[in-house]
Amino acid sequence: MKTALITGITGQDGAYLAKLLLKKGYRVVGLLAHRSTNALWRLSYLNIDTEVEYSDGDLTDLSSLIRIIEKIEPDEVYNLAAQSFVGASWQQPILTSQVTGMGVLHMLEAIRLTNPQIKFYQASSSEMFGLVQQPVQSEETPFYPRSPYGVAKLFGHWMTKNYRESYNMFTCSGILFNHESPLRGLEFVTRKVTNAVARIVVGKQNELRLGNIDAKRDWGYAGDYVEAMWLMLQQPHPDDYVIATGKTASVRDMCKIAFSYAGLNYEDYLVIDPELYRPAEVDILLGNPAKARKKLGWEAKTSFEELIQLMVEADLARMKEK
Ligand code: NDP
Ligand code: GDP
Repeated sequence: MKTALITGITGQDGAYLAKLLLKKGYRVVGLLAHRSTNALWRLSYLNIDTEVEYSDGDLTDLSSLIRIIEKIEPDEVYNLAAQSFVGASWQQPILTSQVTGMGVLHMLEAIRLTNPQIKFYQASSSEMFGLVQQPVQSEETPFYPRSPYGVAKLFGHWMTKNYRESYNMFTCSGILFNHESPLRGLEFVTRKVTNAVARIVVGKQNELRLGNIDAKRDWGYAGDYVEAMWLMLQQPHPDDYVIATGKTASVRDMCKIAFSYAGLNYEDYLVIDPELYRPAEVDILLGNPAKARKKLGWEAKTSFEELIQLMVEADLARMKEK
């Protein structure tokens, strides 16, 4: 039986990845940072909270990572923990750099010092492309991050590559484009919208305040994307891969679809709030997943419309339960 250590186990991707690995027969250990109340809600939602083992530690504390790796002896480490919200990274640039950037180096060092044979996955991000240098972004596209989050992710990305080249370690980065689900945090725009639709339907909310609705993203389903993480660590050689749908849509398009599932017109509820504009914006992201398709046999299965429908339905069901 293989053992996997997942950092960020309490987050969206941590929950879906844990579910996938348990299904594949792994022993799954999650790094628990004890940062949020009701931390295990996503794992409970997927009915796996009691199947995962937990180990206390924090990505900013190297000694805790070394202790955990020595104790659980993982075959694979999936580093998903981060301060992951771009918007908050302007309010907390130093914390973001410490967790999202330096945290990666802590984990790489912990692996190098304990057992450099352990395979490592880093959650890199399309936010590293930022002010895009090519209309469609692939593994070859130059980076130009636009937020403290993007800059921190780029540090982690290059460290992951550097440890592969310096120490011959099996380290991979998945450059994942935005991926969403009913387990997405409420601060992200898709879930903010689908949750608002559900609240509007039951009369708990009568407007939705958003910032730049002309921004475009390549949005996929988190359940599909965690498969790609696992596939990367099963290849004969470590490498970096863009994981995306190859399609892009605006926040406005997403609102239109989400409201229409509830029989509503988004224009009747939307209020543009200049306070929600970001100091620097990523206007458009569009990924080219050709390498992942060819080398990993991976492609996104869930369409954007299906994804938004899934999220609206889950939020409506939650609202009705309440
Ligand atoms: P979430 O925000 O849902 O999860 C982040 C996780 O990191 C949480 O479990 C959080 O714990 C944990 N965490 C935060 N700080 C620390 C710390 N100091 N030590 C240990 N754990 C910590 O993110 P997602 O699941 O959406 O994303 C997973 C990863 O993929 C992240 O690294 C993200 O930046 C990256 N990514 C995500 C994309 C997306 O569209 N979802 C796109 C590209 C990359 P707690 O619950 O206690 O706060
Ligand atoms: P990101 O791509 O990781 O920053 O994911 P988000 O879901 O946070 O944001 C996606 C896009 O939606 C960005 O271009 C935001 O500027 C835009 N957006 C517009 N209004 C909002 C809002 O109210 N909240 C968030 N989170 N994003 C918004």
